[in-house]
Amino acid sequence: MKEQGILFILSGPSGVGKGTVRKQLFNQDPNLKYSISMTTREPRIGEKDGIDYFYRSREHFKDLIKKDAFIEHAQYVNNYYGTPKEYVENMLSLGHDVFLEIEVQGALQVKQNYEKGIFIFLLPPSLEDLKTRILRRGTESEQLVLDRLSEARKEIEMMEEYDYVVVNDNVHHAVDKIKSIIQSEHCKRERVAKQYKQLLEVE
Ligand code: 5GP
Repeated sequence: MKEQGILFILSGPSGVGKGTVRKQLFNQDPNLKYSISMTTREPRIGEKDGIDYFYRSREHFKDLIKKDAFIEHAQYVNNYYGTPKEYVENMLSLGHDVFLEIEVQGALQVKQNYEKGIFIFLLPPSLEDLKTRILRRGTESEQLVLDRLSEARKEIEMMEEYDYVVVNDNVHHAVDKIKSIIQSEHCKRERVAKQYKQLLEVE
């Protein structure tokens, strides 16, 4: 039987640069699979359905919640976001590592259901820096920027639930650190020992 992949969960406040870090990481690690989330929010300019998110109506989303089709789902600034279950479970069972980029409430749900998940928190160098990044993105109204910043404060308090913390002061460094975390997790004794035990049993 093929060894299960590892589930990595990347969280951090909106605007910290999770998307940029994740995209660079994916350019460098072909074994990683990204789970595309579903959301009820409108696409931003340049975003595409099926690439950035699956954009669906609230009715559709609620129907899928009833059908237990999500690993986790959360409401974030008046919209729903969720991780479809089927893709993640298939990829893990095929031995691929799966990467989720989700906010904190959802990550905590994953923690309850997948005790073996590895939780990584991406931190901005400062809150001031975070505000500048959200403003620079220019896609949100003033009220939304304030809502997202207030959410960010709450999210940073949840950092202690995570296994690793990476400060995103520089995208390349942050990506390197996440790659090291992935490598270290693959070298964990319990994991390697399990694979060897299976080999020994075959002989
Ligand atoms: P945005 O609207 O900026 O794309 O995302 C808002 C927040 O929702 C971000 O923190 C993002 O990581 C998070 N998010 C994206 N997809 C999911 C998901 O499937 N589940 C949860 N819980 N959060 C998500």
